[in-house]
Parts: sequence; structure tokens; C-alpha cells
Amino acid sequence: MRPTPFIIGSLLAVISVASAAHDHDEHGHEHESLSAHEHGVGSLNLVVDGGEVAIELVSPANNLLGFEHLPASKADKAKVKALQAQLNDASSLFVFPAAADCSLEEVELSSPLFETEDGHEHEHEHEHSDESAESHADIQAHFHFNCTQEAALDQIQVALFSAFPGTERLLLQAIGPKGQQGGELTATQNLIRF
Ligand SMILES: [Zn+2]
Repeated sequence: MRPTPFIIGSLLAVISVASAAHDHDEHGHEHESLSAHEHGVGSLNLVVDGGEVAIELVSPANNLLGFEHLPASKADKAKVKALQAQLNDASSLFVFPAAADCSLEEVELSSPLFETEDGHEHEHEHEHSDESAESHADIQAHFHFNCTQEAALDQIQVALFSAFPGTERLLLQAIGPKGQQGGELTATQNLIRF
């Protein structure tokens, strides 16, 4: 049976919520944002179900881009475009065993920084003060891979650290063929083994 993207999405939601609950044990019912937003730190949720691999990255924009304000200058807009292209080319960000024959099926990106391009022709209404200088923004990315040889899928190397040097640590929650695992990934410990 082939798992549907919906099921994998639900599993990702479950581990996101579970890890958020852990972080905030002491605060009872207070509602806090799911991600702590610490610069240098992101979270990586990953589900392997047969040959289907779903990965969710939630990261402060600063880790990937070097800034978090809405891109207004040409240079900043170009950086945002380049980042989107880099994330869309996710097969260079996650390295699978060649024998597993994995290919990238889908990438979905969302961030306030990605929503400024179109529908913005009413410039006369906008007076851009620098109020956003201190605001923070996250980037969320979903990646779906499909591997035809799932038996060979025994590890995934996370190449995000070399691609984005502003990323120091990724908090990992993974559900693999052998169960759930958590931990922390860094530039020198960037291998998830199943
Ligand atoms: Zn920030």
C-alpha cells in the first residue's frame, strides 16, 4: 500500500505538536508559538513511510537568508529569490543512498518573506518605515521524496549546514522504519541513520 501525502502530513503534524508540548511542559496551558525562534537553530521533522519520505524544515529566516525583514531593496529581493531556488532544488540539500533511488517529488515553501512579490501595485499607500527592523520571521519548507528501493534507505545526510552556514543546529524529530528518534543535528553530525 502506498501511503498518501495526507497521512504523512498528519504524522508530521503529530510529531511537531509532540515536540512543542515537550518544550513547554512547565507552562501548563499557556499558548506559545510552536517554534521557539532562536537564531541559528531550526527544527527538522521527518517521516519515512515505505519509500515515501516527507521532511519539514522550520527555520528562522535569518539562518537561511541572513535577515528577516521583508525584502524591499533589489539586493534583498534577489537574495530571497535565490533562496527559494535553492530550497526548490532540495535534492542537493538531502543526500540519500544512491541505491535507494530517491527522487524529489514536491517542495512547498511558505514564509512572510515569500509573499511580497505580487499583488503589491498600490505603492502609494505604503510608507515603509523601518518598524520591521526588529521583527522576526520564519521559513517553512516541506519536501517530499520518493524512493523506489526502500530497503536501501538506511540513512539520510542533511546538507543544510553547508548550504546555509547560518544554521548551527537542527532539532530532529524523525519517524523511520525502525520507530521514532529525536536528537540534534549539526554540521559535523548531519547523518540520520535508520
Ligand atoms: Zn529572528
